[in-house]
Amino acid sequence: MAEKVYDYVIIGSGFGGSVSALRLAEKGYSVLVIEKGKRLTAKDFPKTNWNLRKWLWEPKIGLKGLFKITFFRHVAVLSGVGVGGGSLVYANTLPVPKSEFFTSGNWKGLADWENELKPFYETAKRMLGATTHPYESQSETAMKELSKRLGIPNAYSPTDVAVYFGEEGKTVRDPYFEGEGPDRTGCNQCGGCMLGCRFDAKNTLDKNYLYLAEKKGVEILAEKLVTDVHPINEDGSEGYEISYKNSLAYFPKKGKVSTKHVVFAGGVLGTVNLLLKLKETSLPNLSEKVGEGIRTNSESLIGVTSFKKDAEFSKGIAIGSIVEIDGSRHLEPVKYSAGSGAWRLLMAPMVSGSNVFVRFFKMFKDLITDPIRNFKAFTIDDWSKRSQILLYMESIDSTLKFKRNIFGGMKSKLSEGPGPTAFNPKAQELAREVEKIIDGKAMTLATETLLGIPTTAHILGGACMGKDATEGVIDKNNFVFNYKNMMVCDGSMISANPGVNPSLSITAITERAMSLIPEKKSV
Ligand SMILES: Cc1cc2nc3c(=O)[nH]c(=O)nc-3n(C[C@H](O)[C@H](O)[C@H](O)COP(=O)(O)OP(=O)(O)OC[C@H]3O[C@@H](n4cnc5c(N)ncnc54)[C@H](O)[C@@H]3O)c2cc1C
Ligand code: SF4
Repeated sequence: MAEKVYDYVIIGSGFGGSVSALRLAEKGYSVLVIEKGKRLTAKDFPKTNWNLRKWLWEPKIGLKGLFKITFFRHVAVLSGVGVGGGSLVYANTLPVPKSEFFTSGNWKGLADWENELKPFYETAKRMLGATTHPYESQSETAMKELSKRLGIPNAYSPTDVAVYFGEEGKTVRDPYFEGEGPDRTGCNQCGGCMLGCRFDAKNTLDKNYLYLAEKKGVEILAEKLVTDVHPINEDGSEGYEISYKNSLAYFPKKGKVSTKHVVFAGGVLGTVNLLLKLKETSLPNLSEKVGEGIRTNSESLIGVTSFKKDAEFSKGIAIGSIVEIDGSRHLEPVKYSAGSGAWRLLMAPMVSGSNVFVRFFKMFKDLITDPIRNFKAFTIDDWSKRSQILLYMESIDSTLKFKRNIFGGMKSKLSEGPGPTAFNPKAQELAREVEKIIDGKAMTLATETLLGIPTTAHILGGACMGKDATEGVIDKNNFVFNYKNMMVCDGSMISANPGVNPSLSITAITERAMSLIPEKKSV
């Protein structure tokens, strides 16, 4: 029997990959999605993040969960792994960026992005089941109070989130796709969204795009890491041979599959890593710009542990509100479910300073001048219940570069503008105010306090758009320069700083790219 040649192979099953899979299948193409993570369902997710085996993804040491932390010199990156990609661990928040996003960065001037993308943002919201958060938890009360104290009470609003808020705990027939989707259960506000929803209330990609895609015949090959994309002829116009290996085994089995087209959708860490490697091997004509234009939302993550007896910040959804400090700066309160205090092990007092000695001195000073509150913060009964994590974002456009390191992975380098900082003065000022509101103590990750390495859950760019290969890796319709039948549809295509959580934008931009692909019969 002749070997099957797919019309499309999609590498990765996050936001970009899932949208691509469904839309290509709807147009009549045969599609295979290859995903390195596991196919996980409600029963596979951990109850708390102390269950490291089920939470973290580091298969070489037996951790086969859904959440990965990758450390670089200039940034620590949080990401999701599994069928559904980052949607499994994300905090469901779906904001539309401000106008500045559409008119800045590498994609500036390539299209009238804000107007062109408007209908695709609407489609993305509908498909992901975006709805306004209807509850008010202690986090929301604190954020309302913060807005008032800042003199901007209207800056507070509930978030639009991808959660089914039916009757709590009640399972109903699919409410989103006229019964074509899976059953859904009403959210019970357990706060566990970032560990994977154990109650089928969160609208992860396996409950919308991927679910519908599989119904249309899309095949998903899980637990396989793509290692090579080799063009059959020089420019790939005759297709590609994709090599993969088992991602869980110590002595992995290898496999190959043939395809006419390929879509890179492995997220920034997956796609940029692969493209950098392939530029030195199978795809030498890729733009020199691969790995450039890496952006974060210039985030700061600060935990404020409250000493109030009735503090219960673990009740509610992961992110239920947003405070728009001004046009380019936002604050969101983030939570984990009760009992999920594993982050406590990595916490240190919040300080700032230009070098490690200054910061170490300030940290030491804080520990000895405020011993009781420090002791209480480190030994509090239930860290996640008592702590309000603050996610601060701003749309300052600084970029990093990713390059190959000597071990075959990636390293970060400083690029344009100041790099992301672990000591954002505005974020720290807001955290000090929240300390007063909830009677708490602000702490940051020790990697930030001591090493000065900021943490991001929103890594973007690395395969940015441009008008040609001298300016970008892909064109404005997501096609890779210098190769045929090859696209990038994931966070690495994001070519400016959205200043807010990016998944809705990744979904909308991929919807636009896929809308331009002709139906199979007319090819
Ligand atoms: C804790 C946390 C909370 C977040 N909260 C929010 C939020 O509230 N709102 C928001 O908008 N965003 C949020 N994000 C960010 C969001 O998850 C990402 O921006 C988004 O998932 C990126 O989508 P993507 O399409 O680029 O790829 P991803 O969703 O990252 O998916 C890529 C997939 O490809 C797979 N893959 C990678 N390389 C390979 C390979 N070589 N072979 C096979 N498979 C591969 C990966 O395993 C992964 O499953 C959060 C992220 C984290 C970590
Ligand atoms: S709060 Fe709990 S039930 Fe609701 S979406 Fe998040 S994990 Fe699911």
